[in-house]
Amino acid sequence: MPFCVKCGAEGPTYRSLCARCFLEGKSFTSLPDHVDLFQCAHCKDYLLDGKWVGEESRERAAERAVRSAAIISRDAEVRRMDLRAEMIDEANCQVKMAVELDVEGLPVHEYRSTIVRFKSSSCPRCNRLMGSYYEGTLQVRTRDRRMPEGLREEIVDRICQLVEEHRKGDRELFISKIDRLTSTHGGVDVLLSSSTLGRAISRNLADQYAAEVKESATLVTQKQGQDLYRVTFLVRLPAYRFGDIVRYERRLFLVGALRANSTKLTDLRTSQAAMVSNSDMTAAKVVGRREDLLEAVVVSETEREVQVMHPVTFKVFELRKPPRFERKGDTVKVFQGDEEFYLLPLQG
Ligand SMILES: [Zn+2]
Ligand SMILES: [Zn+2]
Repeated sequence: MPFCVKCGAEGPTYRSLCARCFLEGKSFTSLPDHVDLFQCAHCKDYLLDGKWVGEESRERAAERAVRSAAIISRDAEVRRMDLRAEMIDEANCQVKMAVELDVEGLPVHEYRSTIVRFKSSSCPRCNRLMGSYYEGTLQVRTRDRRMPEGLREEIVDRICQLVEEHRKGDRELFISKIDRLTSTHGGVDVLLSSSTLGRAISRNLADQYAAEVKESATLVTQKQGQDLYRVTFLVRLPAYRFGDIVRYERRLFLVGALRANSTKLTDLRTSQAAMVSNSDMTAAKVVGRREDLLEAVVVSETEREVQVMHPVTFKVFELRKPPRFERKGDTVKVFQGDEEFYLLPLQG
C-alpha cells in the first residue's frame, strides 16, 4: 500500500504525497490585481486580445478581458471557468471567477476576483475617421444633364449599402465624407478609406447604370517608405435610364437593360432589339422619360391596331401595333413624340 511521505497516510499518492498534503497551500490560478480595458470613445469597441471588437455590454467585455488575463498553472487543466461581472461605478467593474480544475486527476475548485478598469481610448479606425482620412474618391456625375435628386439619393444609398457589405469582411473600411454637390451639374462625391473599395464600388455602379469609369491616381505622400496614393474614380452615368425613350441613329428606341459595356435598345417601330455599346450610346439623345410615358385606356383592338383614349385630352385615336405587340392589361403605354404617338413594343 502506498503512503504519504509527509503525513504517513495510506492510500493513493500524488508525487509521493496524499491528496491533502499534495494540494495544501497550493493554488493553480491567479488574476492580476486589476485589468485595464480600453474602449474606443467613438465607436465603443473594446481592445480585447489585441483586436478592436464590439461587445454586447460592458460586463461581457470585462468578463472576456478577465478570461484573457487569468493565469493558470501548467500543472492544472481547466474543466470549467465561470465569470460574473458587476459594475461598481461608471469606470470600474468587479469580475468574480470560479474555476474547476483537474490536477493530476484530482478535482480542484478555485475562486478569484479582480477589478476591471475601463479606459477611454480611440481605435485606429476612428483616429483616421476623425482626421477625415481617405484614399479613394468616387465622383458620380451624369453626362449631359444635371443629376436628378432622386437618382442621387438612390446612388448614395447603394454606395452606403455596398460599404456595409464590404465591412463584413474588413471593419477598417468606412466612408469619410459624402458631399452632395449644389453646382449646376449636381452629382455627389464620396470619400472612402480605401481605393480598392472605391474600385469595387465604381465597377458595381458601372454595371448597374451603364456608367463609364475613369480612374486617376495622385501621389499624396510617402508614409514609412511607402507611397500613399489617392485614387479618384470618375463615374459618369449616361443621360438615359432604363425605360426611357432615346433617339439614336435617327430612330426611336426604348432603353432596356443597362450593362457595364452595352445597353439594350428596342426599336419602337420594328420591335427589334439590339445591344449597343455604351461608347456608341453617347450619341443617343433622351427624348422621353420613363415617367412621361402615357398610360392610355384601350377602347378597342383589331389585328393591326388598337384604339386608345388619351388620358389627358380624352381624345380617342388609333395606333398601329408594332410587330409582336402583346397587350397585358386594359391600358397600354404610349410615347408621345413631337409629331406622333408610338405604342411601346414592350408592355408591362
Ligand atoms: Zn499526507
Ligand atoms: Zn473606434
